[in-house]
Amino acid sequence: MPASRNKYRGDWLLHFLEIPVRAAPNHRILPLFLAALTVALTATAQEPQDEPIVSDSISFELYNPPSTLAVPSTEVRRARYPFVDVHNHQWQMPTDDLSETVAEMDALNMAVMVNLSGRLQDDGAHLRACIENARQNAPGRFLIFTNLSYEDIDEPGWGEAMAQRVADDVAAGATGLKIYKSLGLSVVDSAGARIAVDNPRLDPIWAKCGELDVPVLIHSGDPSPFWEPWDNQNERWLELKQKPRRRRDADSPPSFEQVMGEQLHVFKKHPHTTFISAHLAWRGHDLSTLGKMLDDHPNMYTEIGAVIAELGRQPRFARQWFIDHQDRVLFGKDVWTPEEYWCYFRVLETADEYFDYYRRRHAFWKMYGLDLPDEVLRKLYYGNALNIFPQLDRSLFPDK
Ligand SMILES: [Zn+2]
Repeated sequence: MPASRNKYRGDWLLHFLEIPVRAAPNHRILPLFLAALTVALTATAQEPQDEPIVSDSISFELYNPPSTLAVPSTEVRRARYPFVDVHNHQWQMPTDDLSETVAEMDALNMAVMVNLSGRLQDDGAHLRACIENARQNAPGRFLIFTNLSYEDIDEPGWGEAMAQRVADDVAAGATGLKIYKSLGLSVVDSAGARIAVDNPRLDPIWAKCGELDVPVLIHSGDPSPFWEPWDNQNERWLELKQKPRRRRDADSPPSFEQVMGEQLHVFKKHPHTTFISAHLAWRGHDLSTLGKMLDDHPNMYTEIGAVIAELGRQPRFARQWFIDHQDRVLFGKDVWTPEEYWCYFRVLETADEYFDYYRRRHAFWKMYGLDLPDEVLRKLYYGNALNIFPQLDRSLFPDK
């Protein structure tokens, strides 16, 4: 395994461990990183083997035969149009050689990457260093979001102070606010009570983002099967086996409906703020409901990060859904592993049938291409992002 693969794998794990919430000294990251890497390598060892197994009982995990189907197949290593990835994380951006990242972006036809984790471990200097590195070494190619700290949430005036901090970060060059899923799931006040996504203490922050005209990209909750019993009826059985900490207790609050409902309540309460609900609001499996949410909340956008496998299993319905909601969906990916983008391009752009997704714990099913109309594809790749981010250099995009 080449070194760069290890780097991406580790980044991904850090992201899903959701550690960039509280301040922590940097020397505590390395042991955590190494532990995460060990878990990752163990998980890899559990993937289906290439060696044939002869048995009258083969487990679900091992039964993954190569397809015999012969149908036209298209390899798409480069998006048809330049695109903006609104959901990405770069963890060492202040010191990264951005020319390397830009070369990888160019190969994919990624015009602009949004780094959502600007403050990392709640570090304002880190944010400013990200902005500075991008300005100096890759002007126009990165947008950087700021983040919140909930440490002092019980202090009077916390919301106003945090809103001012967001405003200061925006003045320094940040172009949006990213909310991690910790809000609504794990953030608590000093008495140990859960802070709901729509807790009024955050209202000044949402209002300030509207006033500044910067979007809030908000990830709330988890895929709904995480709340379901871990049994053979659960579509995420394999993920919950490999990542047991992701299992949630259906009986202990908040429920999936509760936490996602709180997110919508924020959108309703702050109609002048633009919100991007991450991961298709975890409704990629139920696009009718998601479409209704978009219809009911004109200030809501969504993005497709980490949920392309939901779209790839319903190519006809999803294609029509994209046509119906073409002004409201953005391209996102989440994990920066360049070759995984090829599957996104193939699902969105081609009419290929029955091809593989790259992570079986997300999808044990095959993908089908949506063959999106050109006009819809352009909006998804860059048109809608241009409406949200006035900072984007329009010369990077065709006909703009
Ligand atoms: Zn993310």
